[in-house]
Amino acid sequence: MKNVPGARYLNFRCTGCGNCCKDPLLPLTDDDIRRIAKRTGDTPDVIAQVVDRHAIHMDDEPEAFAMLRQGKRVLVLRHEHGRCRYLGDDNRCTIYTSRPLGCRIYPLDPEFNSKKKLRRLTIVQATECPYEMDGAVDVDSLHELQQRYWAAHEAYNTKIAEWNQVQRRRKRAGRAAQTAREFFSFLGLTDGAK
Ligand code: SF4
Ligand code: SF4
Repeated sequence: MKNVPGARYLNFRCTGCGNCCKDPLLPLTDDDIRRIAKRTGDTPDVIAQVVDRHAIHMDDEPEAFAMLRQGKRVLVLRHEHGRCRYLGDDNRCTIYTSRPLGCRIYPLDPEFNSKKKLRRLTIVQATECPYEMDGAVDVDSLHELQQRYWAAHEAYNTKIAEWNQVQRRRKRAGRAAQTAREFFSFLGLTDGAK
């Protein structure tokens, strides 16, 4: 393992400063929203907000953008007063066991080979992260989490592709794209669209 680039980050330990819950916006999947809704009773429009490409650096992930009436948008965890709405005053996550998969893996960015062996480990630097290096990240758990994260995002992106196809058909027929509320309904997050 010591020849693996970035293997030292297996000693990463989050100090719980809360910075990453205040600064970068976190893209969500419909599964994330469903999990948080079950935990909190919050509606999808409270849990998530839609943002355009200027609010989030995801130009290399066009598949994550849904065509909505106001333009191409990404669903992200809602921020209020400059912080995730689920961050407590003590900088602790109030929905910890139900938090999005992206929150669970951040800021680690591992690469594994087909035999589940770690090939590289880096730290995403989206905000100041005052971590310590006295932790013990379990490689198998990290692999499992990454697989889960990818599977959720792939499934969600497939739904976005279906949605966008419908919106393109509407456009060709001279009709406006549907609303965010209708997108939530399409994802099965609400009973119906108004
Ligand atoms: S859901 Fe929890 S861990 Fe994720 S950004 Fe919000 S407060 Fe932070
Ligand atoms: S910024 Fe780094 S140290 Fe602070 S809460 Fe996030 S992961 Fe932990």
